[in-house]
Amino acid sequence: MELVENAELSACNSFGFSVIAERFARVDSLSRLQALLDLARERDWPLLLLGGGSNLILKPFLPGLVLQPANSGWQLREEGKRQVVVEVAAGENWHTFVTAMLRAGYYGLENLALIPGNVGAAPIQNIGAYGVELADCLLELDAYDREAGALVTLTAAQCRFGYRDSIFKSACPGRYVIWQLRFALAREFVPRLGYQALRDALAGQRIAAPCAEDVFQAVVAMRQAKLPDPAELGNAGSFFENPVVPEATCRQLRQQFPKLVAFADRPGYMKLAAGWLIDQAGWKGRSRGAVGVYHKQALVLVNHGGGTAAELQLLADEVRASVREMFGIELCQEPRIYPLD
Ligand code: FAD
Ligand code: NAP
Repeated sequence: MELVENAELSACNSFGFSVIAERFARVDSLSRLQALLDLARERDWPLLLLGGGSNLILKPFLPGLVLQPANSGWQLREEGKRQVVVEVAAGENWHTFVTAMLRAGYYGLENLALIPGNVGAAPIQNIGAYGVELADCLLELDAYDREAGALVTLTAAQCRFGYRDSIFKSACPGRYVIWQLRFALAREFVPRLGYQALRDALAGQRIAAPCAEDVFQAVVAMRQAKLPDPAELGNAGSFFENPVVPEATCRQLRQQFPKLVAFADRPGYMKLAAGWLIDQAGWKGRSRGAVGVYHKQALVLVNHGGGTAAELQLLADEVRASVREMFGIELCQEPRIYPLD
């Protein structure tokens, strides 16, 4: 777990961009984490926390220090009749953890199968898929607070989770290094089938009363069919968030675009499918040099090989401008670009 200088990180970001970090360290103990954070502060090094690199866009050179939490393992912390509390280390792979919980008979995470990345990054944007989000099962987490210089516990309420959002992303980015998480999981499986595509997939297999394994397998199969595997085609999943707009805006848009794809959100608001907007603006399957818009899902931007963060950002800006011009809707980018300007 030593400090590596001029580390090549192309295998550590899911776009597969060629990236050199001035300094890089994987940390598996709190004492080592604290020592490196202290060193970075003393030397005034910019700091980037890295998980699996599946939700960020890296420029060719990262000055300062890149730190990757590499602690591992999970443990049962409490056993109740109906529910258990499981503690898991930030450095664990998310999908490996979801699979382990399913095999152990602890339920609630099945709809979140096959999301790339590490457990420690999952709270940052409150990962979500197929009608479930991290906040539905997360009890609390321990994080190193760089302002206080101490490990603190934050309850789910204190994390202020929202749609693809949390304090870690919006209110205080970079302040906390998430170190371990505690989940409240159920002993009895209750399927969460609010998401139409998931219901259709299970109905298509004539599964009327799905078990946890059925839901898990259906989610895995849908994702494998629709999303590019970063090992084969560089991407960071959804590149833009689905815009949430007032109902009146949605009604106006529907007059002009009767096939507009929208879903009820919080009272008075509708969530528009950003992928549909991008598709209608003519971008699905189009490329700009080495980067492009994925042909099966227009919400995903891809690196066909040899692309750069700058090329990707230009493409993203073009896509955003087209959607703005056609629908008057401003798309918000999901993955962050590093180093920050
Ligand atoms: P990274 O990309 O390494 O980091 C993301 C952010 O978290 C950065 O700001 C980083 O600085 C910060 N960070 C990382 N670790 C820590 C830590 N321990 N403490 C504090 N900050 C930290 N997302 C969804 O929500 N739902 C999906 O269904 C989904 N599907 C995807 C499908 C594909 C094919 C891909 C490529 C991505 C998808 N994503 C999805 C996005 C991504 O997988 C998630 O956001 C994931 O949680 C990112 O984890 P990571 O470890 O790769 O984080
Ligand atoms: P999809 O089924 O084609 O649907 C497109 C969008 O419509 C989704 O983003 C989803 O919003 C919304 N949607 C569809 N059915 C819905 C319903 N019944 N209720 C509420 N909203 C609904 O989406 P997809 O691309 O195949 O992705 C499937 C799931 O995986 C989605 O939940 C998506 O968010 C998630 N995913 C996320 C990422 C990422 O990087 N963030 C990448 C890939 C997949 P929501 O996004 O709010 O669910």
